[in-house]
Amino acid sequence: MRKRFTLQEYKEGVLSGDRTKLSQAITLAESSLESDFALASDLVQEVLSYTGKSIRIGITGVPGVGKSTFIETFGQLLLDSGKSVAVLAVDPSSQKSKGSILGDKTRMEKLAGDKRAFIRPSPTGSTLGGVSSKTREAMLLCEAAGFDVILVETVGVGQSETAVKSMVDFFLLLMLAGAGDELQGIKKGIMEMADGVVIHKADGDNQTSAKKAKSSYENALHLFPLGENNWSTPVMTASSLNGVGLMEIWEMILDFESKMLRSGFWESNRAEQRLNWLDENLQFLLSKFFLEHQQVQKMLTQNRSRVENGELSPLALARDLISTFFHSNQKL
Ligand code: GDP
Repeated sequence: MRKRFTLQEYKEGVLSGDRTKLSQAITLAESSLESDFALASDLVQEVLSYTGKSIRIGITGVPGVGKSTFIETFGQLLLDSGKSVAVLAVDPSSQKSKGSILGDKTRMEKLAGDKRAFIRPSPTGSTLGGVSSKTREAMLLCEAAGFDVILVETVGVGQSETAVKSMVDFFLLLMLAGAGDELQGIKKGIMEMADGVVIHKADGDNQTSAKKAKSSYENALHLFPLGENNWSTPVMTASSLNGVGLMEIWEMILDFESKMLRSGFWESNRAEQRLNWLDENLQFLLSKFFLEHQQVQKMLTQNRSRVENGELSPLALARDLISTFFHSNQKL
């Protein structure tokens, strides 16, 4: 049985930077038990004024590009510069594949073993909306616990990028130098979302092709109009195996931070993200509570076949279900 604490105990534990309490608080926030839900949202509210001081960095790229290795090396570089680091993951596919990113901590052995770092595998939520919402909560809890840098890892295979982009300050895309047609297979949308592009594994025999890839991505990115933050996305090469190029990436992120702080974009972006979070929560919670509602479930089970065989209009049933939901007093 998981141990539960009072709101005050969770709050004090998180704010004092107690790793065990922080982990337990994240577990609480990730819980799908209704009884945990109110306590978790009270906790987030309680620590909210202690959040917002970290740099939030999203890291994406296809499986095998070297995200975990990058985080292991980059994380240590940050620790060496006196920063504390928390690593989180958004991976909606983890449930299906059973191979959660970060689940395999051996790839981040040193970072995982360092007291100044905190690594949290991806939550096992079933929908992206749920997972990303919980990742935001985990991020805020880590911030309240005093971490300077939050790294959010996501597999670069689709919708999860948008979710991560909408919760971080800086979005880093890791890529590999391909054989010739580098731009193949990379969704334009993901390139457009990136605040920085890194041609990874630029070591050994890969160095020449990495340089070539760098200039072709630079050319491709020049074709995109600048976004509202006026930042033109740098393309860099790096190797996590030998640590080359990683300090430059950190400096690029710091440069981004200082420019965006000066222009006001940093805060306006975060304000917009908070509103996105609200919208996400509304959609997620509405459908969750609606579909879990007992009367709704019963009605749905009873009438599905009538919709299936064409006897009942789907719209009529949907309206009846919604009306049943809103007219009952079952508490959220
Ligand atoms: P992920 O799936 O994106 O998390 O990728 P991993 O971090 O698991 O790395 C995939 C493979 O690439 C592993 O065999 C790593 O050893 C290798 N790898 C990671 N970074 C580098 C690098 O900078 N250079 C080279 N040559 N190999 C790397």
